[in-house]
Amino acid sequence: MKSLPNTMKLLIILAFALAMVLPASGLAEVRIVATVGDLAAMAREVAGGDAVVDLLARPSEDPHFVDPKPSYVRRLARADVLVYTGVDLEIGWLPTLLIGSRNAALQPGQPGNFDASHHVVLQGVAAGPVDRSMGDVHPGGNPHYTTDPRQMARVALAFGQTMGRIDPDNAPAYRERARNFARDCIRTAQRWEEHFAQLPANARKFVSYHEAFNYVASWLGLEDVIRIEPKPGIAPNPRHVARVVEAIKSQKIRLILQSEYYPLSTANILAQQTGAKIVVIAAQTREDQRYVEHIDHVVSLIFEGLHEH
Ligand SMILES: [Zn+2]
Repeated sequence: MKSLPNTMKLLIILAFALAMVLPASGLAEVRIVATVGDLAAMAREVAGGDAVVDLLARPSEDPHFVDPKPSYVRRLARADVLVYTGVDLEIGWLPTLLIGSRNAALQPGQPGNFDASHHVVLQGVAAGPVDRSMGDVHPGGNPHYTTDPRQMARVALAFGQTMGRIDPDNAPAYRERARNFARDCIRTAQRWEEHFAQLPANARKFVSYHEAFNYVASWLGLEDVIRIEPKPGIAPNPRHVARVVEAIKSQKIRLILQSEYYPLSTANILAQQTGAKIVVIAAQTREDQRYVEHIDHVVSLIFEGLHEH
């Protein structure tokens, strides 16, 4: 740099210094915070290179009871969009963090508050008044819809529209990536529907720990006969477990399905008493996975568990 004038040298040094402190795509990078792994995976694909996605709950963590860390408030404070499951799944931990973030853009009713449940066909919605005090963690409907790629296709299309309003310059790109994600979801759904069609009618029943597989069951023509939990969020008791044993034996059920964050002690007893097989399911997409990869993995395990060899 000997031949350059001093002012030019200074400019070059400044340019390098700026390049090191600024993100590659400039100052105005759009920030998305997602509560759970499946929604983060969807958001990453819709965001492409135009936004960054920050996931709060670890994919292996129980999303009903996430341990809120102080860093979550800071991460929410600087976000432009919040994506969450809704239907009370995150009610035990998210509302307090959201208030603490003092981020007006993310509060309910604002464009940056994306409740994904508003875009799905919900199951288990009670007709009458609901009461969480009885221990039911699903009083307003079942929030485990992200295991059904048909529902996630709907969520992605709506999310693409929301991102287009938040970041209008890139609106066409968000919408196109959302359509691609939705198309992959529908193809995955159809492929597995054809695969499960070969299962005989007597191999379509399973038992689950928690009401986490209702959407998978209705998508693939299966039947979740009884839960190990007497009520969503309530630990099993001996009287109820006796009912589960009776159901497994009388209906010749071969499969017990359980998300990875629930204790295995009761399922182990059931398996010993009945010969049913336990299949443990990763509840949410990992950060190094695509959503459809996660679905392929989960559904192939369910198929193997139901299929007699
Ligand atoms: Zn639940």
